[in-house]
Amino acid sequence: MTRESSSGLYLLAVEITSRCNLRCRHCYGDFYDKDAISMDDAAISTIVSFVERMRIPNVTLTGGEPLLAGSRVFRWARELQDVGAAVTLTTNGLLAPKYPSNWFRVFSRVQLSIDGTREEHDRLRGSGTYARVLEALEHLKRGGLRQIVLMMTVHSGNVSSLLDVSSFATEQKVEFAIERYTGPSTGDLRMLTAEEFHGALEFCQTHKAHCLDPLMETVRHRHLPDFQIRHRGGCTAGIAALAITAGLDVLPCVRLRSPIGNLDVEDLEDLWEHSPALKRLRNRRSFESCGSCVHVAVCGGCRAAAFAVDGDFLGRDPGCWWPQ
Ligand code: SF4
Ligand code: SF4
Repeated sequence: MTRESSSGLYLLAVEITSRCNLRCRHCYGDFYDKDAISMDDAAISTIVSFVERMRIPNVTLTGGEPLLAGSRVFRWARELQDVGAAVTLTTNGLLAPKYPSNWFRVFSRVQLSIDGTREEHDRLRGSGTYARVLEALEHLKRGGLRQIVLMMTVHSGNVSSLLDVSSFATEQKVEFAIERYTGPSTGDLRMLTAEEFHGALEFCQTHKAHCLDPLMETVRHRHLPDFQIRHRGGCTAGIAALAITAGLDVLPCVRLRSPIGNLDVEDLEDLWEHSPALKRLRNRRSFESCGSCVHVAVCGGCRAAAFAVDGDFLGRDPGCWWPQ
């Protein structure tokens, strides 16, 4: 069972390296840099102490490609687990078969990226990468992991393959989840239009695919006529979640790449309590469109998608189809 956070911070995404062994066309990060950096034991130890002190229940180890940091990743996951966190690993899978499959049991959940049919995945991530995802999946399944999730980042280039990937996950008896691409749009690759995104979320509702997007809550609302908007939910950026880059910059969300401070010179608890940017993200009534929307308590739009449009994270979510 997930423990209660004493600080209100429930999820910390930790980019342990900015290096990556792929060059995916839809990546939100700039991981091509020859000066890419990785965390070391000292950085992880600082993060572990914050996780313990703030009683953060969930930590995601991500990158770049986190397995490029080597076998230390498993030790770091154990250290985080020892202070009470459930640890998720997100990976492109290429290096997974290098490590014994039972080592991955240290993670509560392993999220493997898959972005369409074999042709689409290879076009987006590089030739031969689909076959290596299948290899990684088989390897992870042998380890008897608690939870394996196939995660698809959906955009204009692969939205037509939702059913293919969802059926594949069912066949493989693993979970299927989607998240939306939030830019930057380049060439023929663009974020879904509001109409396309609505269709993708209706697909998730019908096919029981997971999606943590804030707008998913509005779809559930429509499918449950007696649903009462009583709880709070939606975008967690700066409200229940933060991210830390390999260079120790603190972000409201891995996709909202607008740093609010740096752990070399600032304290995570202080930032969490006093950052002016986080205060703005917590005041949804001030968001363009969302402020007057009936769904504001459970949605609030994706702040990273709004930021991608014109650099204003308080702006309108371009994926929102609700009239305002
Ligand atoms: S206006 Fe904002 S809160 Fe309302 S549905 Fe759209 S994104 Fe969600
Ligand atoms: S900014 Fe977007 S991706 Fe980040 S938590 Fe909010 S909805 Fe999710």
